[in-house]
Amino acid sequence: MKCTKCGTVNLERANFCKKCGSRLSSTLVCSSCKHENPPDSVFCNGCGQRLASSKTRQRQKVCQSCGFANDPGIEYCVNCNQKLRV
Ligand SMILES: [Zn+2]
Ligand SMILES: [Zn+2]
Ligand SMILES: [Zn+2]
Repeated sequence: MKCTKCGTVNLERANFCKKCGSRLSSTLVCSSCKHENPPDSVFCNGCGQRLASSKTRQRQKVCQSCGFANDPGIEYCVNCNQKLRV
């Protein structure tokens, strides 16, 4: 289990980082259907939506239609040309 804050590798079952004390998320919760997925998942097991894997991706505009993560300044999805909601 790698700490997303400081990068320290902790025990797989650890709930908190041994170095900085941040909570280690053991699951990736889908923002769309709230399904809990294994930490290494790229796509949701529940609905197929692409999961935001790291903090740097949270600012990206995720297409409601295809789940593609577009750069923040983009208005239309690069992948499917759907208008992106802000
Ligand atoms: Zn840490
Ligand atoms: Zn989902
Ligand atoms: Zn799209």
